[in-house]
Amino acid sequence: MTAALPLISLRSVYRTYRADGVAVTAVRNVSFDIDQGEILAVMGPSGSGKSTLMNMIGLLDLPSEGAIYLEGSNVADLSEDRRSTLRARSIGFVFQSYNLLARHDAIENVALPLVYSGIGRKERLERAAQCLELVGMLHRVHHFPRQLSGGEQQRIAIARALIASPLIVLADEPTGALDSRTGSDILALFAALNQSGQTIVMITHDPSIATRCRRTIRLHDGEVVSDESQVPLAPKRSFAS
Ligand code: ADP
Repeated sequence: MTAALPLISLRSVYRTYRADGVAVTAVRNVSFDIDQGEILAVMGPSGSGKSTLMNMIGLLDLPSEGAIYLEGSNVADLSEDRRSTLRARSIGFVFQSYNLLARHDAIENVALPLVYSGIGRKERLERAAQCLELVGMLHRVHHFPRQLSGGEQQRIAIARALIASPLIVLADEPTGALDSRTGSDILALFAALNQSGQTIVMITHDPSIATRCRRTIRLHDGEVVSDESQVPLAPKRSFAS
């Protein structure tokens, strides 16, 4: 029996930035695989290379050396156009600051990634409603971002990340702007999405996120210093009335 290909493979990946004659190697000699259905945290202090790595996994940037394979294809071999298309289809991004458009209501924000997909407006909105239901926000369909709490805005942003049925949801400090209880609810949502098969990669410097993921990769000065699997803690229950 042949094993399934990893979704993503990083092989001896380096990323060096050059500015004004100075070279900074932000990621050095990083190799690991991400399999379909995993939920993993990439941790490390500020400046350890997390964003640089996320940009490469998210097909926004390419390694200076080494290779990244998406379902077996070296992403460096693709044209920029092809890489953009693949990014739109394969990666759902979630950011610390939600990045919702203020002048669009919740359902329009969620449907936005499908605008250039060739899918008609009616179907876009139907799919957006399904994604809003998945994140528990069907009761906020026509609310604008300013009318929503931080946790609600992040749920809308997660629905937007899901709308193109991505191979991977890539979340950059997804709870960084939230109080701990709301952050915990968002982590429980990610865990539930992962239970139904969604592959999720979270970038964080918050150790409490790592305890909720099955696998944690730690970076220091651009290098992987550990890659460990553990049993995730169950979501914290809130007994507040
Ligand atoms: P983290 O997300 O863990 O804070 P980053 O990937 O942002 O780490 O940064 C890693 C290192 O690369 C830092 O030393 C940072 O200053 C440097 N760096 C990041 N982006 C750039 C850039 N565009 N140009 C030059 N140096 C950069």
